[in-house]
Amino acid sequence: MIHPYSDDEFYSRFFSQVSKSDGGCWLWTGCKSNRGYGLLTRRRKVFRSHRISYELTYGKIPSGLYVLHTCDVPSCVNPDHLFLGTQKDNMRDMALKGRSTLGEKNPKAKLTLNQVCEIRELAKSGKNRKEIADSFGVTPMNISSIVSGVSWCSPLLFAPPTRFAKQSTPPTVENSGETVSTTVFAADR
Ligand SMILES: [Zn+2]
Repeated sequence: MIHPYSDDEFYSRFFSQVSKSDGGCWLWTGCKSNRGYGLLTRRRKVFRSHRISYELTYGKIPSGLYVLHTCDVPSCVNPDHLFLGTQKDNMRDMALKGRSTLGEKNPKAKLTLNQVCEIRELAKSGKNRKEIADSFGVTPMNISSIVSGVSWCSPLLFAPPTRFAKQSTPPTVENSGETVSTTVFAADR
């Protein structure tokens, strides 16, 4: 089957971040969201690794469907542990597993995936959020959203609130790395 991720570079980049565990799970070793889902970029967009894994194996995910885990390990990308579900299934699944789906916010910041990981590490190490914000050229509120995961990582069950779309100029970080927008998750449920 020809799928949109069939190029060798992407394929090897994907599998270089997978570690097969004894328990059968294929654990994602790359950047992860606060909720533990693997993240990777392709053409300046961020995707969840388990969804990519599903598509690499079974083909395109039908529009509107979610990829759920039988093993309840968010970072697992073993296609044998993945199955499709509706939004209802997803919410029921998450409720059963105690994961909230509320609180989607979008600060419209443009940061690289690595920067997001770096910000989380800095915050975890206790560094002042105002200082982190200054060094990345974003607001402390952006940092809080990134650290709490609401802007980068929760499964997007809801569209971002429109009031965020009205903000004048989104903060942007100039750098040579790949720039990704927080809004791309809208296409990556
Ligand atoms: Zn698994």
